[in-house]
Amino acid sequence: MPLYEYKCSDCETCFDALRAMSDADVPIACPKCGSENTCRMISLFSAVGSEGVIAGAGTSCGSCTPSASCATCALRSSR
Ligand SMILES: [Zn+2]
Repeated sequence: MPLYEYKCSDCETCFDALRAMSDADVPIACPKCGSENTCRMISLFSAVGSEGVIAGAGTSCGSCTPSASCATCALRSSR
């Protein structure tokens, strides 16, 4: 099952979820605030090379700015 990334428009939380491809665009509730005002972000797969390095590191989720990463991206960059 593919991993999709979503961003909550209400609290700016980025989160990812394993979902069936057919469910990719079905609204998903934000795990932090429960809002369904979320949007799917461009799949990481297109930006991930064979070594798993995310192109354009620093703005991992495409929506966060380098100075204000969301919790998910901050977590990821600290790994
Ligand atoms: Zn939220």
